[in-house]
Amino acid sequence: MNLSDKIRNIPDFPKEGILFKDITPLLRDKEALKEAIEKMADMFRDYDIDYVVGIEARGFLVGTPLAIELNKGFIPIRKPGKLPHDVLKKSYELEYGKNEIEIHKDAVSEGDKILIVDDLLATGGTTLASTEMIEELGGEVVGCAFLLELDALDGREVLKDYEVKSLLIE
Ligand code: IMP
Repeated sequence: MNLSDKIRNIPDFPKEGILFKDITPLLRDKEALKEAIEKMADMFRDYDIDYVVGIEARGFLVGTPLAIELNKGFIPIRKPGKLPHDVLKKSYELEYGKNEIEIHKDAVSEGDKILIVDDLLATGGTTLASTEMIEELGGEVVGCAFLLELDALDGREVLKDYEVKSLLIE
């Protein structure tokens, strides 16, 4: 199956001038969803991983099934104010403004090997902030997995210290 056909372009969402990649047609198609998760798992099956970390919100949709497929546990990185226990918070610059993310301080322990997962790699800012939080807690980022990478935005350069693999590159 050509999985790229299952991602649709929505112009001017969420703001004018942005071409939004909508993965919901892929999620809705049972065969496409299964194939995408299996192939993302294949990219990292040989890696030594303790936990999969997914980034809210679409990183949960891809990250949790990926964790199950790799037989690992799942750790969420969330938007501020959502996690109930003690959190580590990180602010980072976005293309359009600023953003903050949080992780439970006790979710990652010294030496844990972490695979970070998100649906889409754009500028790399969200994932870089995630690597910093994981490392601050003593974890080691062994890879970053994406369903789709937007090549023109050079997120791979921002994440050059990490093993970055994307199932689809546009
Ligand atoms: P980055 O930090 O610039 O790499 O942006 C990646 C983050 O923004 C991910 O968490 C994505 O879910 C989200 N994102 C940015 N652009 C899109 C898009 O076109 N479709 C879906 N998600 C996007």
